[in-house]
Amino acid sequence: MQIRIYPERCNGCGECVEICPCDVFRLDSGTGRAEAKYEVDCWYCGACEMDCPTRAIEVKLPYLVA
Ligand code: SF4
Ligand code: SF4
Repeated sequence: MQIRIYPERCNGCGECVEICPCDVFRLDSGTGRAEAKYEVDCWYCGACEMDCPTRAIEVKLPYLVA
C-alpha cells in the first residue's frame, strides 16, 4: 500500500478526488470518506498529500517503500 488515508482525519471534502490528475480517489458511498480506489494509476505527484486540508493522506514513493 503506497497511498495511506487516515480515516479518522478524512472529512469527505472531496478535494483529493478533484485534484488528482490520475483519477485515483473516490468517496466511499457508505462512509463518505476518500479511498484510493485506483492506486495503481498514481504517478506520485504528491498533490493530494499537499492539498488535503486535514493531512489525511500519506503518499510513499515506491522506491522508498520497504
Ligand atoms: S482531501 Fe483529505 S479530507 Fe478531503 S476527502 Fe480527500 S482525504 Fe478526505
Ligand atoms: S500523488 Fe498525485 S497521482 Fe498519486 S494519488 Fe496523489 S494526486 Fe493522485
